[in-house]
Amino acid sequence: MGKIFGVVLLAALSVADCWASDRPAGGRAGLGGDLAASQAHGPTSALLPLEQRWLQAIAPVLDFARATGFPLDIIVQPKALPGHTPLAVAFVDGRCKLVLSLRGNAVAQETLDAIPPDLLDAALELMAAHELGHCERYLAGEFAHPPAGFQATEPAAGVSAGPGPAVESRQASVWSQALRREEGYADLVGLAWSRHRHPQLYARLHAWLVSERSRDPVRGGSHDTQAWLRLARDGTVLADPSMFSNATRVWRLGLQTSD
Ligand SMILES: [Zn+2]
Repeated sequence: MGKIFGVVLLAALSVADCWASDRPAGGRAGLGGDLAASQAHGPTSALLPLEQRWLQAIAPVLDFARATGFPLDIIVQPKALPGHTPLAVAFVDGRCKLVLSLRGNAVAQETLDAIPPDLLDAALELMAAHELGHCERYLAGEFAHPPAGFQATEPAAGVSAGPGPAVESRQASVWSQALRREEGYADLVGLAWSRHRHPQLYARLHAWLVSERSRDPVRGGSHDTQAWLRLARDGTVLADPSMFSNATRVWRLGLQTSD
């Protein structure tokens, strides 16, 4: 555990982003306000073996984040949170919080069990690098904003009966579109990490991610990132050593066809 920095236990937390979930998780309000009200507590118990397993697997990403100066804290939720997204990121006061919700959460073990053993560590690294992609966008003040020079198309609002719901529907569509773009960027960062750290596993990791994202029940939902994954089938597009600029370049290509 010596390589893991800033493990903090919090009593309650709402998170702004999820690795793979359609559950509303804070939305726009979750980008700061909800979290700012969270109460921090001192360590209340030792980390469980499952928590240690996850932290051990993602340690290379955490080391990278520390070495490159990311203001990133690790939060291990001490309460049982069945059904929660095991790994998520939140943003609080200019810092990113990598949140692990593994305790009493069958999804955490199911996630491990569903990945081939020889792919497991690399897949968990990809997940953590994905969250680092969100963090990078947040720190740049660009989260939920398209890149400079990109002409965004307005998403179509759902059919509704009155002016009130119509406005809400359009706002929800705009937000969903912004989140889907962020997920696309973060997936590319995860894949860029994989390309550099596990090039021999890239094809399998890419296929695994495509499969995960295909489980999104709503086409156009926030985790429907296929437009970007298609562009990264050949990992050479992410071969440049600069992980984030790589992801940005491919991300912009995908923005043209994602909506
Ligand atoms: Zn994400």
